[in-house]
Amino acid sequence: MRITDVVFHTVAVPFRTEEVWAFGRRSHLETVVIEMLTDEGIVGLGEAAGYPSIGVVEQAIVTSTPLVVGENPLAIERISKKLSILGAWHHMKASNPGIGAIEMACWDIVGKVCGQPLVTLFGGPVREQVEYFYYLSQGEPGAMAEDAKAGLGRGFGTFYIKVGSPDMSIDLARVASVRSALGDGPRIRVDANEAWSTAGALGALGRLAEYDIELAEQPVLGTNLSEMAYLRRRLPMPLLANESSWTRPMQLEVIKAGAADVVSVDNQMDGGLANLKRGADLCEVAGLPVLKHSLGELGIAMYAGAHVIASSANFLFASQSYASFLADDVIDGCDALPYVDGKLSLPTSPGIGITLDRDKLERYKEAHRRSVPSSPVGRDFSPIWPRC
Ligand SMILES: [Mg+2]
Repeated sequence: MRITDVVFHTVAVPFRTEEVWAFGRRSHLETVVIEMLTDEGIVGLGEAAGYPSIGVVEQAIVTSTPLVVGENPLAIERISKKLSILGAWHHMKASNPGIGAIEMACWDIVGKVCGQPLVTLFGGPVREQVEYFYYLSQGEPGAMAEDAKAGLGRGFGTFYIKVGSPDMSIDLARVASVRSALGDGPRIRVDANEAWSTAGALGALGRLAEYDIELAEQPVLGTNLSEMAYLRRRLPMPLLANESSWTRPMQLEVIKAGAADVVSVDNQMDGGLANLKRGADLCEVAGLPVLKHSLGELGIAMYAGAHVIASSANFLFASQSYASFLADDVIDGCDALPYVDGKLSLPTSPGIGITLDRDKLERYKEAHRRSVPSSPVGRDFSPIWPRC
């Protein structure tokens, strides 16, 4: 079997409500869907988050396509090495989402050839459903509380709040309001996206601790592992690495520095599903549980990642999703993905186990052509962070 072409479709799928965070806002998800064509008629599906931008991702796919045409899609290790070395893709954070989509499509083809769902190829299921968090968009505390109740009503058990506001009282009011709405029991995770100094993080998280925080995500710069290690020993809740752990080499450095209690791993940022599994395994050996980070994904990437998560015992925390935002999808059989009690069940068909809804694909390709770019980093970005 040989790869004959890689076709991509850039889509813009609407959110129910705007995603608002410290660095900007977006009203829809821009992402790139790929179809890998083969000489035997089997088509593999993949998806790349629009990071760092749609244009960069499209160019990574365009530039990678001549390197994979003529290759056997079942030879995934060879293809991944070729793309990461011969493709001159040493700018990993920029190129990996595109490379990861190509690798994802190869796995879809392997599953279809074998007649097995992806989870079987990654070792078989250790869990039948995969749990995700509910992302609360930044806003007025009362509105965030209402959103939290909506998520609770849908059965989600973990709620994610962006913190690191210039005024700490804003963070406190938001977290207090959400905790009051949720009551005891549901988990609240906070993410400062590197906003604080070490002293600032100690002060802020010390005050937030009364609201029973599950994890404190990337409170300080991800490049400063010694400060993360210092913080980890002093925080009243576990420290979650994210910006510091995009790739396996970075995860290894986090482990060596003792810089986190829990580690985010991400196939998009690390160039493939096999690397997602390897990252989870690497952290497991170090005694650190993981969760899957998301840059925003539709059903293709969500289910592809879910197969890998379901195959690894080390995913012990709810992974990231855009369940609270996405109003629709481009896969057959559903609008927004069918979360039940905050969990997705794995598709059972071969490969990723989904097919494209062609009408929606065309509709959202047209929406992308008509839309203004919806970057997660917006015009209201402020370079002034609450360091102290
Ligand atoms: Mg984060």
